[in-house]
Amino acid sequence: MQNVLIIGSGCAGSTAAIYTARANLKPMVIGGHEPGGQLSMTTMVENFPGFPEGINGPDLVDNMRKQAEHFGAGYVHGSVIEADLSKRPFRLNIEGDWMETRTLIVASGASARWLNLPSEQKLIGHGVSSCATCDGFFYRDKKIIVIGGGDSAMEEANFLTRFGSEVSLIHRSEVFRASKIMLDRARANPKIKWLPNTVVEEVYGVSQNLVTGVRLRNLKTGAIRDQDVEGFFVAIGHIPNTKAFIGQLHLDPDGYILSAGGARTNIAGVFHAGDVQDRTYRQAITAAGAGCMAAMEAEKFLEAEGH
Ligand code: NDP
Repeated sequence: MQNVLIIGSGCAGSTAAIYTARANLKPMVIGGHEPGGQLSMTTMVENFPGFPEGINGPDLVDNMRKQAEHFGAGYVHGSVIEADLSKRPFRLNIEGDWMETRTLIVASGASARWLNLPSEQKLIGHGVSSCATCDGFFYRDKKIIVIGGGDSAMEEANFLTRFGSEVSLIHRSEVFRASKIMLDRARANPKIKWLPNTVVEEVYGVSQNLVTGVRLRNLKTGAIRDQDVEGFFVAIGHIPNTKAFIGQLHLDPDGYILSAGGARTNIAGVFHAGDVQDRTYRQAITAAGAGCMAAMEAEKFLEAEGH
């Protein structure tokens, strides 16, 4: 029986672990399918306070984990495949092993959304990426496409012009969800080629295990054409990792946890932290702050219950 089970080992989860471990609650962290969360896939983090020279994303989450372990937190590998939050203790199925806990902190984050074309899925890591910051460097003087019409797509396209010989921005309509400032900045960049009203039908290169091109369809004219491409960046948003909690935790239509005030959810004893609830700020520092809030709530809850 755990006092505090924390789902997710990113900034939010590990900060919750540091706080609850220092409160002597011996928290257990379930690592998830992307241990360390989104920071583990970035390079330099320059806006986390306390690091004037910046710090590597993977080093930052690794330090957080070491700090939590130093105070007695445990980390196990695995993902939650089923949860029963109908009564306490809560029961969670971690890839076949059931664990029981008095309180639960859901810090399972959000994962990149993909187009879900079979060819795209086969080429992830071989020319297909969801993280320009992580992989842009590999596409120096190469042809790149970015898919999406939101702030992420604008930011990634702009960033990738530092590397690519050519960056095409592909969006399924001509209405951009990106904020005006981000859109204007991208539009002012002469290296970005705009392909609105266009979708990707296939990514070429599966037999070579390397992206070589794409088949594009113009939704207005119906015209189909091939384009040579080596870097394929998907920036079409994120999906919160809340599948195991559907029907139990109150979620918004996109699957993000709805807060019941502070770090609380609709279920007493279950708390949220980080990107699994936050679709607005999505920063390492806000996730860490949310982890602290959830930990303090869990502590207060256990104390009130007499543990
Ligand atoms: P958004 O949800 O804002 O945008 C997603 C984009 O992807 C939309 O243009 C959408 O098109 C498109 N899209 C979604 N699904 C598909 C699909 N299957 N095929 C093709 N296109 C698809 O996500 P972002 O990640 O861009 O941004 C998320 C949040 O993070 C926003 O609040 C944003 O402001 C913020 N952010 C802020 C940044 C900053 O300020 N520096 C940087 C990055 C993000 P459609 O519009 O047609 O639905």
